[in-house]
Amino acid sequence: MVSEKMLALGESRSVIRDISEFGDARRQEIGAENVFDFSIGNPSVPAPERVGETLRRLLDSVDSITLHSYTPAPGLMKARMAAARQESLRAGFDIPAGSIYLTCGAAASLAISLRALVCPGDKIALLAPYFPEYKVFVENAGAEAVVVPPADLSMQPDLAEFKKAVESGIKAVIVNSPNNPSGAVLSAETLEAMADILRAESVKKGESIYVIADEPYRELVYDGAEVPFVPSIYPDTIVCYSYSKSLSLPGERLGYIMVPPCVNESGKVFAAVCGAGRSLGYLCAPSLFQYMLAECADERPDIAAYAKNRALLYGALTETGFECVKPDGAFYLFVKAPAGVSGAEFCEAAKRFELLLVPSDSFGVEGYARVAYCVSEDTIRRSLPAFKKLAELYSL
Ligand code: PLP
Repeated sequence: MVSEKMLALGESRSVIRDISEFGDARRQEIGAENVFDFSIGNPSVPAPERVGETLRRLLDSVDSITLHSYTPAPGLMKARMAAARQESLRAGFDIPAGSIYLTCGAAASLAISLRALVCPGDKIALLAPYFPEYKVFVENAGAEAVVVPPADLSMQPDLAEFKKAVESGIKAVIVNSPNNPSGAVLSAETLEAMADILRAESVKKGESIYVIADEPYRELVYDGAEVPFVPSIYPDTIVCYSYSKSLSLPGERLGYIMVPPCVNESGKVFAAVCGAGRSLGYLCAPSLFQYMLAECADERPDIAAYAKNRALLYGALTETGFECVKPDGAFYLFVKAPAGVSGAEFCEAAKRFELLLVPSDSFGVEGYARVAYCVSEDTIRRSLPAFKKLAELYSL
């Protein structure tokens, strides 16, 4: 007998997996160059050269026992110090290395943070549209997800609905900016309004309500968009970070949790993070990549290719008649399905023109499709006639 809950989770089909399998079949049938696969958020720019150079030098110069040994559970001190230095620069105040717990990417950071905070019966607010795995992590931690809808095409949360969720008694809210799937960046104004609501309710309850800031895309921003340092706006914030997108290392599994000193009883919260990491078996992030991080934490992604793709796709699709969320960050474009058409129907219709898009229902909103533009510019250019045919189908 196995856990019914885990069995159901393991057997449930992921929409993206389905689309990806459909894509594989079509590539075999009609050739890869004729399939426009916008389904997966895998970075299309290579990791910075310094990352590869550092890894090669480490492999050549450090003895392999040292390089591949277990590290302390929260990570090597020099890697934590390097991450903390970057966070201090963003914060404008000192973030000690002791605030950083290295993890296997943002997925682990989120699972650990939730496990650290949640008590049985707690509620966690999710701002739609949201990364679908949030629900899995929230429920696995023993909490219930409360979904807050977006206000409008800006994809900022509906603040009246957010207030209702907060007043229903939440333990934390997960914010993700820049956002997967919409590319929206939460403005300082939105975050300040959310902070006012959270502060008022925390005072009323006499206990902290936390923000969990999931920030794997924070360096991927365009046209000068700024991603505010959330703990400066709302001190009870735990940051979940990842190098999957910023250094194009999704398969290497490296990220961290930061519990900054401004968090109420930050020492206790950090200890709970260590306990949650221990209970989940998420100790000691990959050691070779920790050594790399100690030297390369100041590396930044080259986002020129994403910026070009974004301008090309957003320009062409809006000109063709599609309504889109203007993405200030990440590498996703959220396209509105024509009136009366569901996201799933829209994505099914797009398949007729070999366009592989992800319907928005799994992101907690209806009536959109996500286009992951982390592909070659050539793919985007060649896909534009297909988007035009899709628009014609709906007489846009
Ligand atoms: N959070 C968001 C919003 C994401 O889009 C992703 C991955 O796509 C993750 C978390 C998980 O990232 P990681 O590869 O660091 O586990």
